[in-house]
Amino acid sequence: MKPDPVTDPAIIEGYLVDASNTRGHAEALYRPRNTEEVAAVMAAAQAAGKPLTITARRTSTTGAPVPRGGWLLSTEKLDRIVSLEECEGGVLLGEYQAEVARAGKLFPPDPTSRHECTLGAAIACNASGARTFHYGPTRPWVAAVECVLPDGRVVEADRSTPIPPDWPSIAWTEPEVKTAAGYFPADNLLDLLIGQEGTLGLITRARLHLAPQPPGVLSLVAFFADRTALLAFVETARRRQRTGSGDLEPRALEYFGPRALDMVRARVPDVPAAAQHGLFCEIEHDGEAPLEAWWDALEAHEALVDDVIVAEDDLGRARLQAVRHAVPAGINERVVANGMPKVGTDFAVPDASLAEIMDAYERVGPELGFDTVCFGHIGDNHLHLNMLPTNPQELAAAKTRYAQLARQAVALGGTVSAEHGIGKLKRELLADMVGDEVMGRFGALKEHLDPAWVLGRGTLLAGR
Ligand SMILES: Cc1cc2nc3c(=O)[nH]c(=O)nc-3n(C[C@H](O)[C@H](O)[C@H](O)COP(=O)(O)OP(=O)(O)OC[C@H]3O[C@@H](n4cnc5c(N)ncnc54)[C@H](O)[C@@H]3O)c2cc1C
Repeated sequence: MKPDPVTDPAIIEGYLVDASNTRGHAEALYRPRNTEEVAAVMAAAQAAGKPLTITARRTSTTGAPVPRGGWLLSTEKLDRIVSLEECEGGVLLGEYQAEVARAGKLFPPDPTSRHECTLGAAIACNASGARTFHYGPTRPWVAAVECVLPDGRVVEADRSTPIPPDWPSIAWTEPEVKTAAGYFPADNLLDLLIGQEGTLGLITRARLHLAPQPPGVLSLVAFFADRTALLAFVETARRRQRTGSGDLEPRALEYFGPRALDMVRARVPDVPAAAQHGLFCEIEHDGEAPLEAWWDALEAHEALVDDVIVAEDDLGRARLQAVRHAVPAGINERVVANGMPKVGTDFAVPDASLAEIMDAYERVGPELGFDTVCFGHIGDNHLHLNMLPTNPQELAAAKTRYAQLARQAVALGGTVSAEHGIGKLKRELLADMVGDEVMGRFGALKEHLDPAWVLGRGTLLAGR
């Protein structure tokens, strides 16, 4: 049965903005408590032609959960952890991870927002994080889902569930980089439902794969005076990680550019003056940290070895946390002081093009005349360049440069979104990346499943 809608504008107001500051409007809010209620709302929206937007915790940076009128469907009451390996879609990801950690297990997907975002949305957006370098994004950790399609039908899908033969094919070739842009060219129903950003169905429940908790994790931050040396080290660590050979196998490789290091310096006294670039590494081990191998490799690649910060105990971990938090905290302070939003990239490129895109990122600040801060998932060639304009003219220039950089990333064989998705803000970039024919196939699939085009209207696809 369809639950009663909330129509009080004061309550609905709390659901209209996401982390990108995109604002929407809606006439009613539904907060179903189970799959049957979700299905009733979906079927009613389809029958009435009412736009229906799935909203979870609104940490999206793309406008995806922001409604363009019609009804909102919140997943907040689908919040049960059913068992260690099964969970409802509205459960907070961090809560689920804490639960499995208590049983000595690991659910690896680790978006920075994991304590604020939901498991269902992480699946719907194929979210990823620092550990993706080793464990992959959310996708491989999902064993099965229960999903309500736009017409109210409930389907259960695992990797043996075929895509119904009458559904239009979206066959296309994704770039060979970490990517979260466009429908996945799946050969089974489960993979099609992962990464669809709430446009093909609502994930009410999921069965997950778990990994064992590693006995030990060594974390360290190393500093480099020279970018070429740092990139050579990244290449070595990446090669070893991919081939699984030896003890130089990081699960996370995260970069801090020169301005990011300045933000760290403002909060943490341990950053050497000679440091221009920083690298945060996490290494799993079986109880004995492979420190010697790391030391040798860092020394061989001209890291500033006297200044490496190692975390093996609580004090070390606290210092490393301070280093890692200093950058987003510093950026947020600047955004507030500037009174202008930041413009941040989410592109990834193939290994061979990492230095070229970094060159392009380094030129942006000097050319546009305002501050830029670069940091992120260098193991996956996925760096976030944060442009920090201080007035509307600079904001316009930042947006223009963002579009140019997106085209460059695509020309290099990369993606316009490696983790945050397309939402309502990057549809044109997706179209530039995949071309009109593939966008047409995405549209045909959408039309088939959602003839009234009500679900997630404006996300990924412009509509009819
Ligand atoms: C500070 C910060 C850090 C972030 N870090 C990362 C990061 O490291 N990696 C990363 O990948 N992302 C990151 N994000 C983006 C965001 O947190 C993720 O996209 C997350 O998955 C969104 O979760 P949510 O619960 O807030 O969903 P919402 O923002 O409410 O919704 C996101 C999208 O998912 C759809 N949706 C939600 N629930 C369901 C469901 N059950 N079934 C189907 N569709 C659904 C919505 O319709 C919408 O399209 C970050 C965001 C912030 C603000």
